[in-house]
Amino acid sequence: MTYRAPVPDIVFTMQHVAGLDRAVADGIYGDLSVDLAETILDEAGRFANDVIAPLNREGDRVGATFKDGQVTTAPGWTQAYRAWAEAGWNALPGPVAYGGQGLPTLLNSACVEMWNAASMAFGIGPVLTMGAIEALAAHASDDLKRRYLDKLVSGEWTATMNLTEPQAGSDLAALRSRAEPVGDGTYRITGQKIFITYGEHDLTDNIVHLVLARLPDAPAGTRGISLFLVPKFLPDGTRNDVRCHSIEHKLGIHASPTCTMIFGDEGGAIGWLVGEENRGLACMFTMMNNARLAVGLQGVAIAERAYQQALGYAKERRQGRAIGAAEGMSPIAGHPDVQRNLLTMKALTAAARAICYMTAEAIDRAHLEQDPARRKKANERASLLTPVAKAFSTDIGMEVASLGVQVHGGMGFIEETGAAQHLRDARIAPIYEGTNGIQAIDLVTRKLPLARGETVRGQIASMRATVARLLKEGTPAFGATAARLRDAVESLDRATGYLLEAVASNAQGEALAGATPYLRLFALAQGGTALAEMALAAQAQAKAGDTDPAHAGRIALCRFFAENIAVGARGLEETVMAGAGFLNDANLALAG
Ligand SMILES: Cc1cc2nc3c(=O)[nH]c(=O)nc-3n(C[C@H](O)[C@H](O)[C@H](O)COP(=O)(O)OP(=O)(O)OC[C@H]3O[C@@H](n4cnc5c(N)ncnc54)[C@H](O)[C@@H]3O)c2cc1C
Repeated sequence: MTYRAPVPDIVFTMQHVAGLDRAVADGIYGDLSVDLAETILDEAGRFANDVIAPLNREGDRVGATFKDGQVTTAPGWTQAYRAWAEAGWNALPGPVAYGGQGLPTLLNSACVEMWNAASMAFGIGPVLTMGAIEALAAHASDDLKRRYLDKLVSGEWTATMNLTEPQAGSDLAALRSRAEPVGDGTYRITGQKIFITYGEHDLTDNIVHLVLARLPDAPAGTRGISLFLVPKFLPDGTRNDVRCHSIEHKLGIHASPTCTMIFGDEGGAIGWLVGEENRGLACMFTMMNNARLAVGLQGVAIAERAYQQALGYAKERRQGRAIGAAEGMSPIAGHPDVQRNLLTMKALTAAARAICYMTAEAIDRAHLEQDPARRKKANERASLLTPVAKAFSTDIGMEVASLGVQVHGGMGFIEETGAAQHLRDARIAPIYEGTNGIQAIDLVTRKLPLARGETVRGQIASMRATVARLLKEGTPAFGATAARLRDAVESLDRATGYLLEAVASNAQGEALAGATPYLRLFALAQGGTALAEMALAAQAQAKAGDTDPAHAGRIALCRFFAENIAVGARGLEETVMAGAGFLNDANLALAG
């Protein structure tokens, strides 16, 4: 079973959750129309289905290989990457001044979902290049931009993100790589970086590394980190002093090389400063926020692919007799427990997609709104939603892929069906780009206090507005949707008040202990109300005479989410409000 890009669902979510029509009407997307967006997405879907998806199995089986410092990508990978870049997909969100198409993050996010659903190991490479383009466009000197951006935007070269070192993972303050100024405007970079995605490969002629390192007189901690551009090949064509030492053998995304990189074996790799000295982490955050949303989209992508595969299998596999069925064995898709699994998979995927696309639209408005006050508000909303988009979507990516294995029964555990690959591939996304635990801490300690709590309060107010619409406009087909979502939003409101107070009073244990359940609670309320917005739009279109059967399905899916998934909000609220008490006993319980 291969992948079919769900373009109609994607477009519907963009229109009715992420406000594509409104953004087009407001003029913030320039010449882009909804029709043009749909045409581009149809084309992207075809490329994902026909060119990338067929490589996914072989990429997993053969993987990237390493010999004598060279990395060879899996069969078909180079041709697919070059065709993809030549078709202009890498340039889609890039700055127009450097050959990009300047199209919105929202549109690109839908494409990123499709590339990654077709193959996560393929999709993660461009995510890093696109993030580097953003960081360079925002912070690099004009000279560096002129030398590197054209080729990165076209996809002729790729880029990497070099943060992690053996002793510095989540805690970048421990970073040790060094950069010595030479006096001619360049620096000599030395150090070892681990786990560098696409740090070495044969897809392109050059690789541009963005590297975090410390200057000799830099202050300790994160305030003493600078960002450098270090190309594999220097502008004069000579090889720079950077090499791949080895690649990792890992659980999933086998076709994506994960490299140990050595800088400066022979005296120092030549690098150029990006942005100001000691402000490297802020520059890297430009790249990381972009990459965090993209990794969230990987979660949506792998969930969608696992769901499609499980649904296909459940319609074919016959076991037992379904309730009310005639003689003989029924497809397992007819059994209530399997239906529950499939509905859970589809509902979680749709909710995560909605949150990611909402985040993308907020990022667009943060860049494109004319009015500075609106730009600021959109930026705060994007900042609030980014950790939720990243962590919730990648957590459900895992859960959905695991349910996908379950729906396959024993065949799910056998590599032949491909369901196991989705589960293995999905596992990395909650870990990289800042673990999901770190995302939850970011949400509670940095994002809730934004604008003195006004950003999160505003978000909750818009969820309440959706509940009010449900109460007014919902038909019997919505069942208990309004009541369940109202309860979820009120749980979120109370938990938010509790955590804002904890952060304000510096009750660190309370804030940190509740962070992960709070993030999930936020996502249940946000995801549920987003699905309700789509269901209400579907109801309105059906009333207006549109006979698309998908409309009834959207209402049923929203109802399932509200009545079966969002009801978990109450328990999460209690967990958050129980505070840090469990920490007192943690040492006792974990002893031995
Ligand atoms: C396949 C793969 C690709 C990668 N690609 C890249 C790349 O391209 N570039 C790059 O720079 N890095 C990359 N990484 C590294 C990745 O970003 C790190 O693995 C990740 O940030 C976690 O760091 P760590 O592995 O050192 O885990 P640790 O930081 O040791 O964390 C271990 C556990 O402790 C928790 N933890 C740590 N600190 C805290 C805290 N303060 N509070 C609460 N919990 C905490 C974490 O949530 C985690 O569960 C990649 C990793 C892998 C496996």
